[in-house]
Amino acid sequence: MAELSPVLKQATPVVADRGEGVYLYDTNGRRNLDFTAGIGVTSTGHCHPRVVAAAQAQIGKLIHGQYTTVMHRPMLELAEKLGAVLPPGLDSLFFVNSGSEAIEAALRLTRQATGRPNVVVFQGGFHGRTVGAASMTSSGTRFNAGFSPMMGGVHVAPFPNAYRYGWDVETATRFALRELDYLFATASVPHETAAFFIEPVLGEGGYVPANTEFFAGLRERADRHGILLVIDEVQTGFGRTGKFWGHDHFDVRPDIVVIAKGLASGFPLSGIAASTELMSKAWPGSQGGTYGGNAVSCAAALETLNVIQDEGLVENAAARGEQLLAGARLVADKTPRVGDVRGLGLMVGSEFTTADGEPDTATAQAAQKAAGERGLLMLTCGAHMNVVRMIPPLIITAEQVDEGLGIWADAVAAVTTG
Ligand code: PMP
Repeated sequence: MAELSPVLKQATPVVADRGEGVYLYDTNGRRNLDFTAGIGVTSTGHCHPRVVAAAQAQIGKLIHGQYTTVMHRPMLELAEKLGAVLPPGLDSLFFVNSGSEAIEAALRLTRQATGRPNVVVFQGGFHGRTVGAASMTSSGTRFNAGFSPMMGGVHVAPFPNAYRYGWDVETATRFALRELDYLFATASVPHETAAFFIEPVLGEGGYVPANTEFFAGLRERADRHGILLVIDEVQTGFGRTGKFWGHDHFDVRPDIVVIAKGLASGFPLSGIAASTELMSKAWPGSQGGTYGGNAVSCAAALETLNVIQDEGLVENAAARGEQLLAGARLVADKTPRVGDVRGLGLMVGSEFTTADGEPDTATAQAAQKAAGERGLLMLTCGAHMNVVRMIPPLIITAEQVDEGLGIWADAVAAVTTG
């Protein structure tokens, strides 16, 4: 009998049997409230009946049609539908399967379009696990240490992570922009820089939102130096933050948006969106892959977008997100072990710290485990894995948010008192 690789270390002992809405049922028939949503993927809930029906209908018609050979109807319809929600001017789309592949596609395109070798990424950013994307990741050494040499041409600039620096947001933002200019003067001259790659909210890096001033500073430098601004919306897109795009909070114009996760309710699908002019700088053959834009995934994505719209899931994420953030703050108020609670919409992180303000990984992991034992699934994130994050499906109700918060309060009390 073969066993699964030990690298597939699970955060919880759950063996999932079936999912329904915000609940996952394990093979013992136990019901778990799922505040992970497959790492921000199943935004419409597990097995939303409309998404299931759309995928089933497509499976009976056409499963695979490779896009360098034939185009298929679900991809055309999805592109049209996405056109209505993408930022103005980003009217050209290209599909692959995972967030990492989409980041690689964006990376290639920015180098192809500018002829420049370097990219600037931001401290704590996570962009994926393929070697190019891992080279652009700085949210933890576990993602890129030990298999060097990594891809060259990547420069890391500070992110305005106010809590980490112990400053207010304005000071952290001023610092980060000044350091970016210093980087341009010392390491990566602007005319050799193809692109900035940035998440609107650091995801794996600890659930830290960026801010409007920082994005304004990036946009201004991008325009001044002919650098492309790539916004990685893999975890923050499709309503997750309470607005359709994470960057909608920050009033900024991206040159490329990278999409995945919440796009297709769990079917593998990702992509990049750019202007037609920019996208045409990639030459045929340089982008793509056998399975990119799978027909069933595209049909599921199309229905996912309909559900997000028809059920008002963006608005729900905003309202339930406020409730979740406020509730998580009340839990934190009862213990000195949680130093900061932050997030946007239904991305809420509780950062565990010691009495000296150092990362407290042990207590964070104990709290996550205690919640799991009580039927609430959650994950940790951050360089030190000391941030417990909540990313429930966007269909969550007020009662279900309260149910989760009740379990969270018990779990935190169990590991921080007595
Ligand atoms: N970018 C961001 C912001 C992500 O959160 C992730 C996944 N956590 C990725 C890229 C990589 O996506 P995937 O795991 O599908 O390759």
